Amino acid sequence: MNTIKGQVELLENKHKVECGWCGSLLHEGAQPASHGICKECLDEQLAIAKTLKKMKLL
Ligand SMILES: [Zn+2]
Repeated sequence: MNTIKGQVELLENKHKVECGWCGSLLHEGAQPASHGICKECLDEQLAIAKTLKKMKLL
């Protein structure tokens, strides 16, 4: 579909994506880089979230 939203998504997909936590490259592309999260940092964040949840329960 040739919608504006589709065009924007297409442009965004051409951008470089770096992990906002460790800075590792997730997706090669044009500058400026946008930020995402890599598998390792996602696991870490989920672990932290779990720990915080546990602490509230104690
Ligand atoms: Zn990372």
